[in-house]
Amino acid sequence: MIEKSEFFAKVEEIFAKNALEEYLTAEICEKFYALTNKMLETNEKMNITAIKDIDSIISLHYADSLILLSAGIEEGAKVLDVGCGGGFPSFPIAIARPDINVVGIDSTAKKVNYINETAKEIGIDNLEAISGRAEDFCAKENARESFDIVCARAVAALPILSELCLPFVKKDGRFIALKSRTAEEEIEASRGGIKKLGGKIEKIEKTTLYIPNSEEAERNLIIIRKTDKTPPQYPRNYAQIKKKPLS
Ligand code: SAH
Repeated sequence: MIEKSEFFAKVEEIFAKNALEEYLTAEICEKFYALTNKMLETNEKMNITAIKDIDSIISLHYADSLILLSAGIEEGAKVLDVGCGGGFPSFPIAIARPDINVVGIDSTAKKVNYINETAKEIGIDNLEAISGRAEDFCAKENARESFDIVCARAVAALPILSELCLPFVKKDGRFIALKSRTAEEEIEASRGGIKKLGGKIEKIEKTTLYIPNSEEAERNLIIIRKTDKTPPQYPRNYAQIKKKPLS
């Protein structure tokens, strides 16, 4: 377990180099410290993260997730994180923005239980995780067309991801995919599908992620605006989505 002062110093350095200074309050840093300890402790028993050294956790999980906030998330926004896994970007954005409401969904129940238990323990009361597949959750009452922002990191290529995410977005809301360098090719392959799902590619925000002792890494936020309702036949079941991604 890392000393708190040492952890705070690392967060300060890495957040500052990633233009995330506004999130360096004592309250936020305390929550990230508690999350780090809980995640590493849980990781001994179940696989939450392959990234275990503190510098990498802060840069590749926390700072990387917080890039999403540079898209400008409206105050009080309802956010859905599809395929939240061990809680990324869910945890960082909920910690950094207590005013927003974050729902994470993942098909692995163990990870979902860990997220809910951890959020309760640390006092992150604006985050709730749901166990299940996104395409099934979409059929539930009040889930469809009901989120201001739907985001996803490291879940699937954009043609598949769009069908899993866009149906949840409210009219005029946004689907924001966090991507590394594959952005351009993925966008080309998804243009037709995004249109069919009622979306419009608004912009791609390219940035670099500072990672200690490593080269800077490219990151892209693909921002898709929901301009029309998603036709009721989408999302299809996963086998169909995967076999014939919308294009
Ligand atoms: N977003 C996290 C986890 C990425 S791993 C991160 O960036 O660290 C991808 C996760 O997506 C896995 O936990 C997997 O269970 C989940 N997943 C994949 N397809 C899904 C679907 N259709 N519905 C819900 N969860 C899904």
